Amino acid sequence: MNEPHLSPAAISATLRELHEKYLPLREGRLADYIPELSKADPDHFGIAVATVKGEVFEAGNAEDPITLQSVSKPFVYGMALEDLGAEAVHEQVGMEPTGEAFNSIIELEKKTHRPYNPMINAGALAVTNLISGTSPADKLGRILRLFSRYAGHPVHLDGSVFVSERFSGHRNRAIAHLLRHFGRMGPEIDENLDLYFQQCSILFSTKDMALMAATLANGGVQPVTGERVLARPNLRPLLSLMFTCGMYDSSGEWAFHVGLPAKSGVSGGILAVVPGKMGIAVTSPLLDKSGHSVRGHAVFRELAERWGLSLFNGGGEA
Ligand code: GLN
Repeated sequence: MNEPHLSPAAISATLRELHEKYLPLREGRLADYIPELSKADPDHFGIAVATVKGEVFEAGNAEDPITLQSVSKPFVYGMALEDLGAEAVHEQVGMEPTGEAFNSIIELEKKTHRPYNPMINAGALAVTNLISGTSPADKLGRILRLFSRYAGHPVHLDGSVFVSERFSGHRNRAIAHLLRHFGRMGPEIDENLDLYFQQCSILFSTKDMALMAATLANGGVQPVTGERVLARPNLRPLLSLMFTCGMYDSSGEWAFHVGLPAKSGVSGGILAVVPGKMGIAVTSPLLDKSGHSVRGHAVFRELAERWGLSLFNGGGEA
């Protein structure tokens, strides 16, 4: 990085400073609709930056894993794009923001009966249904191998979180059955729900999430291993839908204040992509009303301001 405020020493100092500043922020609630997630430590708080050169900076609990939850959605969508191509995928799922909550069933019922986008639950369930494989175990193996390549090391599931959501995820079951009703899901509804709950239960540290975002910032090549994980033509679909839909019903506010493609999950992770420069991730489990980490949101707003990260800054220095 040529910018002085992005020198290695300056990045490390800023991450430490923001961790200290926002640790006392105790607003928000744990996601308790998945019982296992309500056991999270409210003071878990990790911040990580990974550059496209593979340098990693971190503060707080950046090495402690949490489940990905909806942070998994763009990456499984990317896998479906690689398997089938954008045209076939978008026969089953749209590319418009909803303005509704991530787990809304209303939009699916109301108009086209096609989920609005792959970043909300209805769209993600339709996308997971498209993943190729010879058996449920084969599909899960493919998903785990993909996420291992993004992280740069083998990753695995949190079995307790998976089972907890499997037995409490009635709203997702309802969405899956409605998708089946509208011909957007095959007959293996339970297997498909399991695969979706499993992708949500993959354990990633904040640092792993930053590297996953940095892979997208680096044109689809994991910056530490040098391995191509996503074909270049599939970057634009991922990043554009993360930008317009990744933060659900607060995607507009996020675009206004932060101005970066991003994705959040109800275990408290948020990652964002600064194309050509870096991936950034923050994890902390207390959530706002849209289901985003309160500390995460605060850190991203301040970082975007200080480092002039918004894609809409006009190209010059802040
Ligand atoms: N597994 C969660 C669910 O389907 C993911 C939601 C989220 O992270 N926003 O409800």
